[in-house]
Amino acid sequence: MTKIGVTLHPLTSPDRQELDLLAQQIAEGVVAAGGAPVFIPPDLDETTLYARFSSLDGLILSGGGDVAPARYGEQALPQVGGVDEQRDHMEMTLVRWALAEKKPLFGICRGLQLLNVVCGGALYQDISQHANAIQHAYYPDYPHDYLAHAIAIAPDSQLAALLGKTTTLVNSLHHQACRTVASSLRVVAHAPDGIVEAVEVVEHPFALAVQWHPEALPAAVESKSLFGALVAVSAQGQRERHPQSAQIPEIPQRQA
Ligand code: MN
Repeated sequence: MTKIGVTLHPLTSPDRQELDLLAQQIAEGVVAAGGAPVFIPPDLDETTLYARFSSLDGLILSGGGDVAPARYGEQALPQVGGVDEQRDHMEMTLVRWALAEKKPLFGICRGLQLLNVVCGGALYQDISQHANAIQHAYYPDYPHDYLAHAIAIAPDSQLAALLGKTTTLVNSLHHQACRTVASSLRVVAHAPDGIVEAVEVVEHPFALAVQWHPEALPAAVESKSLFGALVAVSAQGQRERHPQSAQIPEIPQRQA
């Protein structure tokens, strides 16, 4: 089986119920794509975390609370919420390993923001810091699958290739976004107000992150394409790392 790690929020998260549901939907998206989800809690020690990471063929960074603004050198504004230092550390460590080992990586919402911070970028602590921003925080009063706004996708991007289109409608459940984008990332989708909606790591075979929540749109062909691409690329890497696993083991000859 192709094992896909899914990072988890802490049990003490203020949005625990909402995040439990999204984590379950991510797992369902992985299963529907033919992969085996493996949850990664935020409180593993580094040895255990690396053992878990090593066993994985791909990695998903799930959504959740805000990355601590200190991680990009700022003091927190009052709008910042749900910060968990342990989770930040766990996910930043995983991202560094995945980038170093070229392991397939897919970031969702907070996952995009975290990837940007790890690579040296910074965030709007609240989208109100961006002049002329449209509404992006369609929660808690809207269903998670509410299609909030369009995005424009760079035609020559991996994202456009795997979705087969350069525009689509997405849900929007975020109050933060990229303010400065790390130089190792390429912005491959924007909302109409210029807010970053997807990035790709330039020097990596498959490291993509989106600002929306495809797992909360499980019936959408775009969501199936995203989970499908991650599992397919991860399965390919697994075959390359373990070519013998594709062969049927020889049965030893019984000695006469
Ligand atoms: Mn949005």
